[in-house]
Formats: sequence, structure tokens, C-alpha cells
Amino acid sequence: MAKHIQAIRGMKDILPQQTPLWQFLEDSVRAVLSRYGYAEIRMPILELTELFKRSIGEVTDIVEKEMYTFEDRNGDSLTLRPEGTAGCVRAGLENGLLFNQVQRLWYQGPMFRHERPQKGRYRQFHQIGVESFGLAGPDVDLELILITARIWKALGLQDLQLQLNTLGTAAERSQYRKELMSYFHDCYDSLDEDSRRRLESNPLRILDTKNPEMAELVAAAPSLMGHLGDESREHFEQLCAGLDAVGQAYLVNPRLVRGLDYYARTVFEWVTDQLGAQGTVCAGGRYDGLVEQLGGKPVPAVGFAMGLERLIALLEQTDLAQRLPGIDLYLVTVGEQAQREGLLLAERLRDAMPGLRLISHCGGGSFKSQFKKADKSNARYALILGDDELARGETGLKPLRGEGTQQQVKISELVDLLNARL
Ligand code: ATP
Ligand code: MG
Repeated sequence: MAKHIQAIRGMKDILPQQTPLWQFLEDSVRAVLSRYGYAEIRMPILELTELFKRSIGEVTDIVEKEMYTFEDRNGDSLTLRPEGTAGCVRAGLENGLLFNQVQRLWYQGPMFRHERPQKGRYRQFHQIGVESFGLAGPDVDLELILITARIWKALGLQDLQLQLNTLGTAAERSQYRKELMSYFHDCYDSLDEDSRRRLESNPLRILDTKNPEMAELVAAAPSLMGHLGDESREHFEQLCAGLDAVGQAYLVNPRLVRGLDYYARTVFEWVTDQLGAQGTVCAGGRYDGLVEQLGGKPVPAVGFAMGLERLIALLEQTDLAQRLPGIDLYLVTVGEQAQREGLLLAERLRDAMPGLRLISHCGGGSFKSQFKKADKSNARYALILGDDELARGETGLKPLRGEGTQQQVKISELVDLLNARL
């Protein structure tokens, strides 16, 4: 027999026993975002390759080596989205959502990058991204950070650290870039291959190296803070003051960069030391230059994206999965009449109890074999209906997870009893 066809390397199935945690994560984030007035936008997963080249930039890891790009049947070059901001701005421009107005938007879904798969790093992964347009900050920068903090609280995640930096404006960076280049030139022999490549094209990205052997060199590099103009400095100070006012702790990390020209001022990340090397669960920043770069009139913008696989990995380290609600009832019916009546009873129960999770046994079989299935379903109770019970207007309620013994209940009293128990 032929071998099963396998999933593509770095692309994982999310299995039924894992989806409750995913749903909890997604529901929690959605709930917080709607409380801040953010609206969902849904974009296609495929975009013209040109969009990512123009927005993310040619000299980035993503565009240089990570994109899934192919020609479609028309000969157009298409790319599976590696991130959501570009498509969001494209959609905003195309639909007239951006100019001269404020938009608070979010999206979720799979992203694709051809990276080396490892823990916390996949080729298909999922993000929830949040973008706000038309607001120059720093108040809205603060809002975004407070949203993320509230999300961690809703998820019960306590050990995430907020790191913060400012990149100034493109003009302020150009002076700094020269200084950085000459610093790295002076220690050229100690640079790794990646950094040498970035030295001319995008020296700020060297600060973002993941190579531990470069850590010391990078730590001693000159900082951008000295090159900030008054407005950028004030922007950053106001953001920090806001965080102080709400008691949100943060670490100013001058090595935190985004190497692209359209970034401006605020950048932040939430990091954990519990996931090994892939410790950033959320990254964001202000990108005032991007809308114009994609052909629109200038619109200030700031946003972030969180990596859901990494957040799930953190949630898996807690006991949350055991605490999520499962199936309440598994209905076992023995006898022809009981089977017919059982289906009706199940529907009546679902009518009367909107939150009830009830599995009706299908496919017949002996009492014993049905009971095995009930046990396997992880339901809290088996609801048992045989022809004898039916004749007495009763049903049996048997706890499946050690909460006492089976009890006979009048069908007419069942809803009240279940409401009290569940
Ligand atoms: P990294 O430095 O880890 O490569 P990045 O700077 O490329 O991250 P962003 O583009 O800022 O990541 O994406 C935002 C978030 O999405 C990251 O902080 C991370 O949580 C998640 N993420 C990015 N790439 C991957 C991936 N290949 N697999 C899983 N999650 C990812
Ligand atoms: Mg990356």
C-alpha cells in the first residue's frame, strides 16, 4: 500500500484535542479587542508579490528568503502572505478606509514564511494582528500596549515582559545609521556572515541578530537615543509616562529595532524566557511611512501582531486546558422506542438549556459498548434511557468523573436538576 501523504514540513495540523485551547485564546483576544472598539477586517491570504516587496522591503529576511512565491496560471507573481500589515494597508487604501479618518482594525489567520522549522517557528503559523490608522500617538501607542496587557491578563499569562524602544524618524535614523555603519566597520572581522551582508544594506538589522556570539558586539553598539529630535523624544517620554501612570512595567531596550524605513518612533515587544530562543510572543510598532510608501496619502499608523503558536505553547504550560468546559452529557439509549424518544429528549434539553453540550449516541449497540463511548467522550454525565425507564417517565443520570453514583430522575424534573448540577 502507498505511504500516507504527509503534511508539508513546518505546517502543522491543529488537532481536535488542541482546538479548545486555540478557541479560548482567540475568543479571549476577540473579546478584549471589541471592548476597545476594534473592528475585524478579513483579507485574502494571497496577494501580489509586489505588495510585500514594496512594503516589507527587499532587504529583509522575509522578502530575501522566506516568502512562498509562485506564478499563477495568468503568469502573475503571487505570494502567500508572510504577515498581515501589508494586506491590511492595501485593503484600507483600496476601499477608501484610511485617508482623513481613524480606523481601529484587527485580523487573524495563517501566515507563511519559509524558515527553518523549530520549536516556536513554523512555515505556516498564525497571528492576530491589530492596526490603528489616522492617529499620530503617543496616546494610541499606549492604548495598543494596554490592549496587549489586558489580553495577557485575560489569558492568565503573568510572566511576559514588555520591552520598548523608539526608532525616531527616518531622517533621525539616517545620521545614526552612518555612525552604526562605521562602528560595525571597525569590528568587521568579528561580524558573522549575515551581519556583513546587512552592513551596507540595512545595518540596523544587525542589532536584531539572533547569534549569541554577536551579543557583546551589539550590546556595545552606539544607541539611537542621542540622535532623537525633540518631537521624537517627547513622543517616547509621553508613552513612558503613560505606562508609568497605569503601573505597567517595561524595559527600554535600545537593541529593539525594525530595520525598515517606514517605521517611526515606538517599537515594542512582549517576551518570555519560558519558550527558549523563540521568546517573542508579540511585536509591534509605529509605521507612519507605510501608507504613503504603498501609494496613499500619508497616514500615521501603529500596530502589533502576536504569534498564536507561541501563546498556545505558554498556555499549554498551565492547567488551563483541564479547566476548560467539556461535554456535559452523553445520551445512552437502549431499545427501539428509547432510541426514538431519546433523540426528542435531547432536542428538548438543547431547547431548554442553551449552554448545554450534549452528545447523543448514534449507531446503536449494546448498553455496555455505548457506555464505553460515553466514558471516552469525557462527558461529565451519562444520561441513560432504556425502554423500562421510559415506561416510568424516568431517566438515569450517572456521573462519569467520580461525582457520586447513578441516580434515577423524573424526565419532567431533569432540566431543573441539570441546571443545578452543571
Ligand atoms: P522573529 O524575530 O522571531 O523571527 P519576527 O520579527 O520575524 O520574529 P514578526 O514579523 O514581528 O516576527 O511577527 C510577529 C510575531 O509573530 C512574532 O513575535 C512571533 O510571535 C510570531 N512569528 C513570527 N514568525 C513566526 C514563525 N515562523 N513561526 C511562529 N511564529 C512566528
Ligand atoms: Mg522572523
